[in-house]
Amino acid sequence: MFADKMILRIPGPTPIPPRVQTAMNQPMIGHRSGKFSALFARTAERLKPYFGTKQDVYILAGSGTSALEMGVVNTLQPGDEAAVLVSGAFGERFAKICERYGIIAHRVEVPWGKAVTPELIETFLQKKPQIKAVFATYCETSTGVENPIADLAKAIRTHSDALFIVDAVSNLGAVPCEMDAWGVDIVVTGSQKAFMLPTGLAFLAASERAWQVIEQNKSLAFYLDLKAYRKSLAEQTTPYTPAVSLIFGLAEVLDIMEEEGLPAIVKRHELMRDMTRAAMRALNIKLMAEDQYASTTVTSCDPEGTFHAEALRKMLTQQFNITIAGGQQHLKGKIFRIGHMGYCEPLDVLQVISAIELSLHQIGAPVELGAGVKAAQEVLIAHV
Ligand SMILES: *Cc1c(COP(=O)(O)O)cnc(C)c1O
Repeated sequence: MFADKMILRIPGPTPIPPRVQTAMNQPMIGHRSGKFSALFARTAERLKPYFGTKQDVYILAGSGTSALEMGVVNTLQPGDEAAVLVSGAFGERFAKICERYGIIAHRVEVPWGKAVTPELIETFLQKKPQIKAVFATYCETSTGVENPIADLAKAIRTHSDALFIVDAVSNLGAVPCEMDAWGVDIVVTGSQKAFMLPTGLAFLAASERAWQVIEQNKSLAFYLDLKAYRKSLAEQTTPYTPAVSLIFGLAEVLDIMEEEGLPAIVKRHELMRDMTRAAMRALNIKLMAEDQYASTTVTSCDPEGTFHAEALRKMLTQQFNITIAGGQQHLKGKIFRIGHMGYCEPLDVLQVISAIELSLHQIGAPVELGAGVKAAQEVLIAHV
């Protein structure tokens, strides 16, 4: 085994294409130079199709959570009421951010593994017309559930004037997102998931409606003050020093993504989801998400006590230098999650499934070698 040949199959950070790695090694340039300004403005422009918006996309230096916090602190005041759709760990994070800023966060919860339905938020909004914003998670990374954002947006628009703010950190760039057409007000994402970069950039786009609120809002934010980012972007720059090397990388990522094209990217992720799910079914391993709401970027699997998820993960690392994710919070130690997003293709999925089968054999779990691989291959054959 080559120690440097690490295979990351976690839901972020994801592997980085060599072209992108090379682009990030370019010599540093002045961040207030004309050269950087032109690159920065062009790069921000090229992000728009992935959000499905005509609005500007703001790029800040920070992990995904910085953009979540930016979405909260710029739109709401202490004492305001918000609804947070919680389907797992990341929905809960939005609620915690709200509470830290003195916002009253009403959790509209579903059990982990389930998706939030439009009916649920409709009923809630009818009871609470004072809600100023609704927060949701597009892909709930902790359970591998993709929430039906377009339908949720429609339900919210029909019953309320509340802003609709969406965390798309773990799937934007891999899934359809039509922020303008769906009526979503704010979409946020980060660099280390489907955008194939290291952690360190966060992206946010806001609707006209959101901007009306943001302009009026006396925000507590300094570093995360969106108005400052808007003013700077109009001058092709950022309020604080941008992560120049990551912007070099992002420009290269966008080249790669434009070469493949978003429709093909979306199809590739759907195929990887279907292959992974077929394999787990063939191996008699329970899938946490229902087919209808299964994420195309991460698959959560529950061995239900037939073997130890942590023993499997340990064996994968020891034998193959492959990292998959474990469970979060109450699912810690109980489940495992396979990331299949960004710089990942069907052959990589066959590799991780094959390694899972071998590792299951090693830890003494019941497994029919090749059953998962075969099922995934059949999905692949049917696709081409
Ligand atoms: C990864 C992730 C985040 C952001 O986490 P950071 O560690 O701050 O980058 C937020 N939401 C979801 C759904 C995620 O998967």
